[in-house]
Amino acid sequence: KISQINIQSNEANGKDSDDAPEQFNVAEASLLRKVIRKGLIESKNDIEVQRQNPNSPLYSVKTFEALNLNPNLLKGVYDMGFNAPSKIQETALPTLLANPPQNLIAQSQSGTGKTAAFVLAMLSRVDVSKKYPQVLCLSPTYELAIQTGEVAAHMAKFCPEIEMKYAVRGEEVSRGSRITEHIIIGTPGKVLDWALKFQVFDLKQLTVFVLDEADVMIATQGHQDQCIRIHKKLNPSCQMMFFSATYDQAIMEFAEVIVPDPITIRLKREEESLDNIQQYYVKCAGPQEKYNAVTNIYGTVGVGQAIIFCQTKRTANWLAEKMSKEGHAVAVLTGDLTVEQRINVLDRFRSGQEKVLITTNVLSRGIDVEQVTIVVNFDLPVDMQGKADCDTYLHRIGRTGRFGKHGIAINLVDTQEAMNICLAIEKHFNRKIQYLNAEDSDEIE
Ligand code: ADP
Repeated sequence: KISQINIQSNEANGKDSDDAPEQFNVAEASLLRKVIRKGLIESKNDIEVQRQNPNSPLYSVKTFEALNLNPNLLKGVYDMGFNAPSKIQETALPTLLANPPQNLIAQSQSGTGKTAAFVLAMLSRVDVSKKYPQVLCLSPTYELAIQTGEVAAHMAKFCPEIEMKYAVRGEEVSRGSRITEHIIIGTPGKVLDWALKFQVFDLKQLTVFVLDEADVMIATQGHQDQCIRIHKKLNPSCQMMFFSATYDQAIMEFAEVIVPDPITIRLKREEESLDNIQQYYVKCAGPQEKYNAVTNIYGTVGVGQAIIFCQTKRTANWLAEKMSKEGHAVAVLTGDLTVEQRINVLDRFRSGQEKVLITTNVLSRGIDVEQVTIVVNFDLPVDMQGKADCDTYLHRIGRTGRFGKHGIAINLVDTQEAMNICLAIEKHFNRKIQYLNAEDSDEIE
């Protein structure tokens, strides 16, 4: 059995239609969030710590030096451009590196530095003189495993003696061979095959077990059971590290199965808000006028970038084509693209090669990107019943406000229904959405 690949497109779900509202799945959303983000999300919230054993020591560091890392590893950390530990790393790193090893459950939103923390711990725990896998990291999908592997490869840039192997689709081992790499990063199905069926490495010899993206794992059929089956074969002395971007009962129950006697740390997510956002609506007679409004607005986006949200692929593609034909550099991201293509599109947008990104709900979260100053709702977000989808509106437009930066949101309204949705959103958030004359976009403050 080959490890499942769980990036499902809408097509695979049988829901595909160019005119159907596009939805996203959790694994994919998590991946895209990682790709579009340039740096750390800083949080004003405090770390919450729980210890089952009140005698277990609790440490915190303010510098990477304080961790007494292998100098070449420290060099790798600095080479990544990190100056000081992020908030979650301040507590997670000393716990992960403690001797005797300490089990950890950590929950904080994507972008707060969890991956960097456990990768650093994975690399520090390796004994290069032992030519067998000592560290296993489970990721929910091929792409997420590769992302983690790339972080590890960069951080280990000055430690060429540390060897890693991916256990993901496309990687093969022959029965009877043995894996000599120190670190395995893989998906649960493939890891199970390699460990139990092909027996190319011994789970009992692992000293570090990392379960990443636990919330995505749970959301993916069969993965939780596979993780538990792997976990059952581990040595009780193996250090367990469990990470999740979200927090709920099901995840905590999963965590308790995997991680005995843990230190649990949580950093509550910074709530998105509309406080720093100027919201406008523009009246349009139909799609063509909406298009005109967009190009007017586009003309005024001097610095910074814009994201335009459409309800369907058809609209997104139509708009992108029309704008491209007129010589605008736009990027388009819809469920039609393969994952590689999406990553490509986001990479280009993030690096500023295109100023405008046209997309559907495949990207309704994770747009809290510094350089995006204008968000346009070409179509207002609605739920299955056609009612105002205020959560999605907040995810599209809202900022965590940490930069104190101002953003502009523009809603294009072409029917009475759309106007009603706009009013419902205004009422819901109790924040004024001002009328804007698109012919005169100098009005934008
Ligand atoms: P998470 O796993 O919580 O999503 P990551 O570890 O991927 O977070 O970190 C998010 C981003 O912040 C990445 O681009 C990463 O390179 C960067 N980053 C992580 N730790 C630090 C740090 N201490 N200083 C600066 N940037 C960091």
